[in-house]
Amino acid sequence: ASGYNLMRDPRHNKGTAFTEKERDAHYLRGLLPPAIFTQELQEKRLMHNLRQFEVPLQRYMAMMDLQERNERLFYKLLIDNVEELLPVVYTPTVGEACQKYGSIFRRPQGLYISLKEKGKILEVLKNWPERNIQVIVVTDGERILGLGDLGCQCLPITIDVGTNNEKLLNDEFYIGLKQRRATGQEYAELLEEFMTAVKQNYGEKVLVQFEDFANHNAFDLLEKYTRSHLVFNDDIQGTASVVLAGLIAALKLVGGTLADHKFLFLGAGEAGTGIAELIALEISKQTKAPVEETRKKIWLVDSKGLIVSSRKESLQHFKKPWAHDHEPVKNLLDAVKAIKPTVLIGSSGAGRTFTKEVVEAMASFNEKPLILALSNPTSQSECTAEEAYTWSQGRAIFASGSPFDPVEYNGTLMVPGQANNAYIFPGFGLGLIMSGAIRVHDDLLLAASEALAVQVEDEHFKKGLIYPPFTNIRKISANIAAKVADKAYQLGLASRLPRPKDLVKHAESCMYSPLYRTYR
Ligand code: NAP
Ligand code: MN
Repeated sequence: ASGYNLMRDPRHNKGTAFTEKERDAHYLRGLLPPAIFTQELQEKRLMHNLRQFEVPLQRYMAMMDLQERNERLFYKLLIDNVEELLPVVYTPTVGEACQKYGSIFRRPQGLYISLKEKGKILEVLKNWPERNIQVIVVTDGERILGLGDLGCQCLPITIDVGTNNEKLLNDEFYIGLKQRRATGQEYAELLEEFMTAVKQNYGEKVLVQFEDFANHNAFDLLEKYTRSHLVFNDDIQGTASVVLAGLIAALKLVGGTLADHKFLFLGAGEAGTGIAELIALEISKQTKAPVEETRKKIWLVDSKGLIVSSRKESLQHFKKPWAHDHEPVKNLLDAVKAIKPTVLIGSSGAGRTFTKEVVEAMASFNEKPLILALSNPTSQSECTAEEAYTWSQGRAIFASGSPFDPVEYNGTLMVPGQANNAYIFPGFGLGLIMSGAIRVHDDLLLAASEALAVQVEDEHFKKGLIYPPFTNIRKISANIAAKVADKAYQLGLASRLPRPKDLVKHAESCMYSPLYRTYR
């Protein structure tokens, strides 16, 4: 390729880091200013520029610009500054970016498959230049919050069946189909065509990660395709795995086994019931009690109050296993008082719902109440870290979906952990891919939870953390991937043979490196 094209291809561009030799060999002379920067110097300059922006969305846009200009540098920045940049490219800022996507949109990323492409989905997949696809992250955008692109072997796909969001339908800058959402058979047919085309085009071992579908489709899609495809729903299963990991780790602080605890959820959707089911499964494995029994330690509250058996008839199917015998309870505070949970988990998407009274009630019958406010972004968090610590007189063990800064309480620095599926999906996906797994199994999720939990060290516990610091996400992910792959081999679900001896090393060797290549 000519130098001009090389510079305009974000996958190859090195900008000012093209060496003298490369400038000669690839017709780049004169197309670049004379200074030659190292990748480290480019990184330093970009971080400096990025920090000049006061408005988070501007930082987000600057990062997207970089991704479109120089992909390796983009990922190097992310990897080296993950704690600083994750809140920019992920929750909370990505939430705002999604809401304003039409007006900040510059260039399409990934594939868009709309109802207009019905009957042509296989052709659409073939339009994508990359043949070697290992992971597809697909959304229909009905319940958005997530991270798409994880590198070149990951293909983000948006399935556009319309929107019921009036604001978008009336927005002249909206980039999607301007019609109400297709449902029922029309919806099912488009997804069936998509799932078939994916397997036809990429084979058995491509991982399809469902992201941010609304719960009235999410559970059904997972159930339907889990038997025929390698599928994973991040909101149901990834969230479950990350929360279970936090709970297992937290036992070191609160004592007892999982079976000794009682759990109450606010929110009984994908996240809530997904987590609840994985906890019940883990307790069942540990105690040999049937899962029908272990579920009874777990209670959920939805928008109508505590889920109880007298409501069974009118419940969505994913709530039914949680309808235990109890008199009706209208609100969360009364449910907390009635159930007396040791663990309170917020998965409702409704902010400010863990009120002072709720946290105080938790603190009144627990020495160390475990409180997880999972809802994203920050504005939807059930309570802030400061509130959890203050209202519990510094006794709460707290983690949240979106990051909070450390809080000083009575002279002690309390560090809230980030209970976010971003800890799980990269390592989990890698474990599946590197073992050539052909199906996902709940035991793989449990393996991921345990692998994450054991990486919390004494120095983290001392600060109140129940997750390891995100800075080490590459190392954390390699360990998760190794444990997931190991389980896949044990269960006979792995197809990549022979099994590598050192799975952690193998995981590391499969990871993307953002370092520049030398062009000869
Ligand atoms: P979902 O399937 O729509 O479920 C929401 C649930 O919350 C429903 O059961 C709903 O009740 C209930 N609810 C909503 N408002 C409520 C209120 N004011 N009081 C009581 N219950 C209320 O959504 P989801 O996928 O589970 O996601 C929920 C939240 O979790 C989102 O904010 C998301 O960002 C967050 N999340 C976080 C992570 C993470 O890694 N930290 C991962 C996934 C999701 P009804 O059923 O009665 O409508
Ligand atoms: Mn998500």
